[in-house]
Amino acid sequence: MGKFTSAIKEECPRCTKGDLFLYKDHLPFSGKPFKMHKYCPECGLKYEKEPGFFYGSMFVSYALNVALFVAILLVYLFFFREHYGWIHFAVVYLVATLLMTGFIFRWSRSLWLTMLTKYEPEKRDERHLEIIKTEGNIGK
Ligand SMILES: [Zn+2]
Repeated sequence: MGKFTSAIKEECPRCTKGDLFLYKDHLPFSGKPFKMHKYCPECGLKYEKEPGFFYGSMFVSYALNVALFVAILLVYLFFFREHYGWIHFAVVYLVATLLMTGFIFRWSRSLWLTMLTKYEPEKRDERHLEIIKTEGNIGK
C-alpha cells in the first residue's frame, strides 16, 4: 500500500522523497504536467532507466483510460440514461478524457516506474546528484 500511495503522489519509488515531475500542475493546457525530472533530486535515481523505458507506461495509460471510460459509462447507465441520449455520454467522456490527460500521463509513468523499482531508501547515486548540480535536472 505504501508503494502505491507514493506512486499516486508521484514520488520517487526508491526513496519516496523526491518528486518525479518538475511542476505540481496537472491540467494539460500549459504543457507543464508533462515535464519530468531526469534524476531523483533526493537519491539520484535515474528515472528513464533505458532509452524508451516509458513506452511501457502506455499499457498502464491504456488501463487507466479504460477504467475512466467504464466509470463514466456506469454512471451514465445507472443515473442519466432515461433522460439523456448517448451523445451526452460521449461529450462528457471526451471532456473528461481531455481534463484527465495530465493525471493519466503522470500516474501511468509513476505506476510503471514504481512497478519496476525496488524500495531502497538508504541508497544514493552521488554521481547523478553531481550531474544535477552541473547540468540541471530536466528529463524527457
Ligand atoms: Zn529518490
